Amino acid sequence: MTERPLLLDGLAAPVVDRAAWGAEPAVDWPPERSAVRAIVVHHTATSNDEPEPLAMVRRVQRFHAHDRGWGDIGYSLVVLPDGRVAEGREGTLASPAPEIVQAGHAFGHNPGTVGIALAGRFHDRRPSDTAWSTLVEVIATIAAHADLDPFGTDVLLANGRTLPAVISGHRDACATSCPGDAVADALEGLRYAVAERLTGSGAGSAGDRAARHRASSSASGPDAAQNAG
Ligand SMILES: [Zn+2]
Repeated sequence: MTERPLLLDGLAAPVVDRAAWGAEPAVDWPPERSAVRAIVVHHTATSNDEPEPLAMVRRVQRFHAHDRGWGDIGYSLVVLPDGRVAEGREGTLASPAPEIVQAGHAFGHNPGTVGIALAGRFHDRRPSDTAWSTLVEVIATIAAHADLDPFGTDVLLANGRTLPAVISGHRDACATSCPGDAVADALEGLRYAVAERLTGSGAGSAGDRAARHRASSSASGPDAAQNAG
């Protein structure tokens, strides 16, 4: 029994926890938690024709933990092409809302940010509709628990660094091509899709704020929403 709901409670997409994908225990990484302020979207930059997605997650963990020396997989969560979501950094699924265990996914911008990676490379192609739907649902679930405005901007993190938006891409934080041009171009559509999900689910003040924003920006809304995949 937990006193507080967990950050991902209510998520309908199928979740693959660390035991199920065969994670190694994290090494040399004392877990720290802080309240979620923002989401950072990544791609794993791995093959789009990966025959065994969970083997890819294990490879990414080994690369991040050992080759990079980060002690564990860097991402908080990985969205697989078939719409499942794999737990990343140890302790993520056990994080009590509105907190997240700190991951290592965007240098200098890790406290209070959830690093969600789409499995694949998205420089010139979009993720599958199924993966995109799961990404929307994961972000909406977290936004509801952490009271995030999907259209929020100028996010101040606990370490004094900033992000331009509550839903940002990795390239908005660091010099990188991640999450690929196709996903970077779809981020505004992603914000609208998350807002729509929040208002549809009546998710408290996060949903109310999203509804107000959509009402006040209805002139630009439909065009932006068409970018959602
Ligand atoms: Zn990235």
